[in-house]
Amino acid sequence: MFKIIFTLSVCFLLLFLIYSILPTVLIRLSGNGISKRLNNSNGIALTFDDGPNPKYTIQLLDLLKRYDIKATFFVVGQKVLQHPEIIKRMKSEGHKIGIHHFEHISSWILSPFHLMKSVKMTEKAIEECTNEKVSLYRPPWGHFNLFTPFICKKYKVVMWSYIFGDWKVERCKNNLLDQLRMVTDDGSILLLHDCGKTWGADELAPQFMLEALEIFIEERMKEGTIFIPVNEN
Ligand SMILES: [Zn+2]
Repeated sequence: MFKIIFTLSVCFLLLFLIYSILPTVLIRLSGNGISKRLNNSNGIALTFDDGPNPKYTIQLLDLLKRYDIKATFFVVGQKVLQHPEIIKRMKSEGHKIGIHHFEHISSWILSPFHLMKSVKMTEKAIEECTNEKVSLYRPPWGHFNLFTPFICKKYKVVMWSYIFGDWKVERCKNNLLDQLRMVTDDGSILLLHDCGKTWGADELAPQFMLEALEIFIEERMKEGTIFIPVNEN
């Protein structure tokens, strides 16, 4: 009996490795089919995941508007349906909008069918707000599965050059600003979060992210840094 359970467990583990971990490691290490930086750019791209959030995304949009900055948002389809007015505002203010699954679920535990459904439903939700084709995709937690390259081949898959752990209040308070200040290279894609309701995140974290971000933007704009959205091709 023990032998059967052990064999089944090993088989399950191997299948999981082949379906999820291995594709993620190979895609991220090779860089094939993904963008971690902007192409030939003289600017820095601010990207925000997990929204829209009725409180923090609005505050973020106000902040970006004050400094006339266009950013890129990777949104969760279910939240798009709850707050279509925020997506319409993003579009009208010149921001780019990409897919971040219908619910914030890792591709590691989505079947090919569910991954396709999640992406399509989010695409439809965004397009109904913007009347524009969606061309950008970023998977939650940067996780891929064996079928992602085929299911998402029509999108530009945007990863990041810098990630800061800004989903935690303590990290935002302790070192987010210092880490942001270390970004000096043009063409970088910065990953931040405008919603703290994701599993593992602190609900109040975006409040502290916004405080650090405003100081960073103000400092950098004085130095002449240009902030641009992610290009679609
Ligand atoms: Zn996310």
